[in-house]
Amino acid sequence: MTSAVGAGVAAEFQELYGAAPEGVWAAPGRVNLIGEYTDFNEGFVLPLALPHTAVAAVSRRDDGVLRLHSRDVPGGPVRLDVAALEPGTGDGWAAYPAGVVWALRAAGHPVGGGADVHLASSVPTGAGLSSSAALEVVTALALGEQYGLGLTRPEIARIAQHAENAFVGVPCGIMDQMASACATEGHALFLDTRDLSYRQVPFDLAAHGLRLLVVDTRVKHALGDGAYAERRAGCEAGARALGVRTLREVGVAHLPESLGRLTDETVRRYVRHVVTDNARVERTIALLDAGDPRAVGPLLVEGHASLRDDLRVSCPELDLAVRAAVEAGALGARMTGGGFGGSVVVLVEDGVADEVARAVGEVFRVAGFAEPRVFPVVPGAGARRLR
Ligand code: ADP
Ligand code: MG
Repeated sequence: MTSAVGAGVAAEFQELYGAAPEGVWAAPGRVNLIGEYTDFNEGFVLPLALPHTAVAAVSRRDDGVLRLHSRDVPGGPVRLDVAALEPGTGDGWAAYPAGVVWALRAAGHPVGGGADVHLASSVPTGAGLSSSAALEVVTALALGEQYGLGLTRPEIARIAQHAENAFVGVPCGIMDQMASACATEGHALFLDTRDLSYRQVPFDLAAHGLRLLVVDTRVKHALGDGAYAERRAGCEAGARALGVRTLREVGVAHLPESLGRLTDETVRRYVRHVVTDNARVERTIALLDAGDPRAVGPLLVEGHASLRDDLRVSCPELDLAVRAAVEAGALGARMTGGGFGGSVVVLVEDGVADEVARAVGEVFRVAGFAEPRVFPVVPGAGARRLR
């Protein structure tokens, strides 16, 4: 399947640029099982890679020109001068791959020769499934290999995040890029964002008779609207008030005492979310390691309530999808990603998965919401070369 995708993208590259690409690479989107808004607090996250990927056919150039094209965006290739790349110069979608070239150079990597790039992605965009990270990581991996940079996976993720933060201007954490760069098939990625250490946690849904559904509410989230930055600033204010570098250092056992020292009601809610969600990641991993994935369900529901009530990053569609899924018999469900729209992740017994999917669609119809896109996912592979 992926080899056919790779061949198709390679053929399009040849059509577009007049020669076969030197190689074709893929990087997945991700769905986060649990641990939300924790990655900029040096906390824990537990994402898994989607089977959906961004695919890039790439050839090196030697004249300092970067040509970028996406099958999914109308228009011809965007042509940029590598030496002139500066934050703010990238326009629209091209800022993601251009930002990666800029970030590679900013980190001292000699990619000044430029490249021809043709992209195509099956990751839904703006659905909280990290189509942006997939685009960045596939570009960084391809250029890293073609220029012989010897980048480690965490280095690729850091470059990709730097591109999104500083060049595109989105203040995201490191989870999405690490998930895309480091995930492996059949596993969730337990990532400690303090030092980027990680462990592959076996997550074999089929062996347990379980299914994971993603419900894309089709409500476009927009992280750029300031709400994300506001949560981030609130968490930083909480850490300062508690005299710690980051909220990672606040133990859940001392939470009541820590909350008692905070005077700002909003900051107190944010701190409670981050500290309890870190604890939920640890409890989830203990359950998965113990071979009891069903027991993760209630933690998802708890996590959603915390995002809805304490962090206040949910929206009516996300809340309704979670409620409908659980009422229809799911083991648990929660919003995933930055919120304000995007997707919900649902853990469900195989036998009731179809009924849960149907029930969510029906409830949305009755509420007058757009029809959600519901699809099953199994943990996919991280970024890789296809050909
Ligand atoms: P998410 O990462 O949750 O999908 P973002 O807003 O962070 O949402 O990133 C979506 C943006 O990434 C799109 O608006 C577009 O600029 C870019 N993008 C994603 N996929 C593609 C693609 N296949 N071709 C061109 N640009 C893409
Ligand atoms: Mg994104």
